[in-house]
Amino acid sequence: MSRPLNTKKKLLILASKLGYQTRGFAEAAEKLGVAVHFGTDRCHQLDNPWGDDALPLHFEHPRQAAAEIARGLQASPPDGVIALGDRPTPAAAYAARLFGIPGNPPEAAEACRNKLRQREVLEAAGVPVPEFFSFSTAHDLSRVLRRVKFPCVVKPLTLAASQGVIRANDAAEFEQAVERIHELLTSPEIQMLRETNLDRLLVERYIPGKEVAVEGLLTGGRLRVLAIFDKPEPLEGPYFEETIYVTPSRLPKETQEAIEDCAARTVRALGLTTGPLHAEFRVNGEGPWVLEAAPRPIGGLCSRALRFGPERISLEELLIRHALRMDGSGLEREEAASGVMMMPVPRSGIFEGVEGMDEAERVAGVTEIRITARLRDYIAAWPEGSSYLGFIFARADSAEEAEQALLAAHAKLEFKFLPRLPVEHPVTKRMSG
Ligand code: ADP
Repeated sequence: MSRPLNTKKKLLILASKLGYQTRGFAEAAEKLGVAVHFGTDRCHQLDNPWGDDALPLHFEHPRQAAAEIARGLQASPPDGVIALGDRPTPAAAYAARLFGIPGNPPEAAEACRNKLRQREVLEAAGVPVPEFFSFSTAHDLSRVLRRVKFPCVVKPLTLAASQGVIRANDAAEFEQAVERIHELLTSPEIQMLRETNLDRLLVERYIPGKEVAVEGLLTGGRLRVLAIFDKPEPLEGPYFEETIYVTPSRLPKETQEAIEDCAARTVRALGLTTGPLHAEFRVNGEGPWVLEAAPRPIGGLCSRALRFGPERISLEELLIRHALRMDGSGLEREEAASGVMMMPVPRSGIFEGVEGMDEAERVAGVTEIRITARLRDYIAAWPEGSSYLGFIFARADSAEEAEQALLAAHAKLEFKFLPRLPVEHPVTKRMSG
């Protein structure tokens, strides 16, 4: 496609939600003098906050979404593309190919979008993944049960943020877990996402051990690890909402090297080549195990835990520089320890407010507290939930101090909820609850 000369660099950002995460990118782009086009599949939620009309897309049909983008941006093709969240990653890969700009091979992005496919690809390449199989929820569970080894984890194939991920220790828990996930997957909220494979579940061996998240950046298939985050809270289930991430990791150097090596093998096996990588691993006596890898940056506001170079540029700025082949994407993370707490949802209900903010903000080391849950909105606890009450950030000389600051601040906060009265859905007649 022909490209007009002497114009600003243009970045395409694909995201399911236009909210605080996209705003971070818009701000970084503005700082860099970069023009941004947005594409989203949530057009009904659009408030066009930057006066920049987003392209309405259907990410569940990534090829068509890319063709739509190519049509929409014909006169002003992008120089780079970034996908936020899992859903738009295949569309971003197809769009990159159409525009001839750096991107992941679409097959690699597609493999990452489906937890079963990802497991199959990694297992075939000899990368350590939990033993797994998938089954249809229409199947007779007693036959499925014969194949299950306990403890196990049951999960949907395409959701994110640990939504619908449940540990089961025996047959009774397994049956309850399957029923609960099936309820979730057939709920109007999930059905409207038009995800495929909502009638299948993945079951895998529960892997005990310490969990870490790796934030990386890929160039020509080479992985640079930007940060390894420890998750110091025990994540033993039955549900797996995230809480604390702290970097640098306190794991021994050789364990961190083994994780980096495993991350590089994961990337090679999946065929990912370009841009951000967010991956999760568990480590135990047998070494690292891959839980998941996705060609996108860390979600929510968590990126604020990372700053790079002497000017402390944001992860968003680093990723934009990388996507547009500008200088500065090779900067290292600052030396200070840094942590973020994704504030868990203690129970489902109408969020009525929080007390103790002033005291929490005064805790030494705490740099920011952001409540992102909307007042008087219903918020669901895990495993049905997928968004947090908000985020606490801390910086300190050591990872231990950063972690303690997050815990101390969180202990000062008291969240108020009201139960939601059951309402019948006008179309499905299902009762909310
Ligand atoms: P999502 O992509 O929705 O976050 P994951 O498959 O990454 O789903 O699972 C979410 C979390 O559940 C993980 O971060 C981990 O804490 C836990 N988990 C998932 N699978 C396993 C497993 N096989 N063994 C132990 N814990 C697991």
